[in-house]
Amino acid sequence: MRTDVIIAGGGLSGLSLARRLEQDGIDYRLFEGAGRLGGRILSLPGLRDGAPGDRVDLGPAWFWPGQPRIARLVDDLGLQTFDQFADGVLLYQTQDGGVRRFDGFAPMAGSHRLAGGMQGLIEGLRRTVPAGRIALDARLTALESGPDCVEARIDGGNGVEVWQAETVVLALPPRLAAETIAFHPPLSAPLIDSLSAVPTWMAGHAKFIAVYEQPFWRNLGLSGDVMSQRGPLVEVHDASPASGAYGALFGFVGIPADARRADAGATVAAAKRQLAQVFGNAFPEPLETHYTDWAENDLIATASDRTSPADHPHYRPIDPPDGPWNGRVIFGSTETGRTFGGFLEGALEASEQAAQAVKDRLQPVCP
Ligand SMILES: Cc1cc2nc3c(=O)[nH]c(=O)nc-3n(C[C@H](O)[C@H](O)[C@H](O)COP(=O)(O)OP(=O)(O)OC[C@H]3O[C@@H](n4cnc5c(N)ncnc54)[C@H](O)[C@@H]3O)c2cc1C
Repeated sequence: MRTDVIIAGGGLSGLSLARRLEQDGIDYRLFEGAGRLGGRILSLPGLRDGAPGDRVDLGPAWFWPGQPRIARLVDDLGLQTFDQFADGVLLYQTQDGGVRRFDGFAPMAGSHRLAGGMQGLIEGLRRTVPAGRIALDARLTALESGPDCVEARIDGGNGVEVWQAETVVLALPPRLAAETIAFHPPLSAPLIDSLSAVPTWMAGHAKFIAVYEQPFWRNLGLSGDVMSQRGPLVEVHDASPASGAYGALFGFVGIPADARRADAGATVAAAKRQLAQVFGNAFPEPLETHYTDWAENDLIATASDRTSPADHPHYRPIDPPDGPWNGRVIFGSTETGRTFGGFLEGALEASEQAAQAVKDRLQPVCP
């Protein structure tokens, strides 16, 4: 089987690249290792029996002013945005469990959310790409650079398929490329080292969401923001849907990935206890909770991602490899975004860069 371009990875980078190639009339196939599209984007119904459109985000929740690509995409796809709720007092939990109030400090004020959750981006992009171009449960496991083309081994529900292409875009984290895909001939040692050194943004994190009948904290003059020295949730924010159908809080778990791996149930129980302590005992029990540990997802995180970088890394495009892989493999996840690497905006930027590299590669030498 043959195509011009193979895209490996059906997150925001891979899907938005597929949309670009579709618009440019370039022949391509997208292979996604998981059984769903979206990668680090994951929106689920907050209440199992609630309206399907009222979803909570277990991956990214925000984008920000000054990010032009995502603003344009939201517009193109006709999606609705709303502002992160940030009015009221922030609660600060000290190490010994004491709670202090901070008025006028709203760390996430000004950030934007998507009505229905970030999955709307993926669903919207998906509609711009013909179904036959995308395969789910189809993991790229090996690449061989031959004299005329690249051969890609795809492991999936249908067994193993071998596809030939002019070029392959790896719209997946650089570390995964280095550690989970077999290259024949091998990538150079310096390139492997530099791919392995790129942290996958947020891959070491776990996110907890508690859903309530209403956003009770708002009536108490609280924003829902919590900063905690005690944990397990180190940072909490309002995650209620735009519709107002229920209230929700989300928190980032501060327990290291290795420690929380042993017992997810204990982490969830401790997070519920913490919210009750911080907001006061009159605060109701959540109707439902959700928990995703991204460090346990082997299509997102590697062992090196179990420890997260302290600050946002300085991401940049990965130079095209020398030798037999030159022009044959292009790195294109958000971690390669020139300006906004790591963010959703970086994923769109990476797809723009990859689309240009594909077009340069496929350019006929003689007009
Ligand atoms: C908890 C959390 C919170 C975040 N919050 C924000 C936020 O608020 N705002 C923001 O801008 N960003 C945020 N981010 C970052 C944002 O999610 C990413 O920038 C973006 O989703 C990355 O998209 P991507 O397509 O580049 O990579 P991914 O989403 O990682 O997609 C890669 C895809 O490749 C697939 N794959 C992997 N290996 C293979 C293989 N061998 N073959 C085929 N398929 C493969 C994976 O299954 C996955 O679908 C957050 C991330 C997390 C985890």
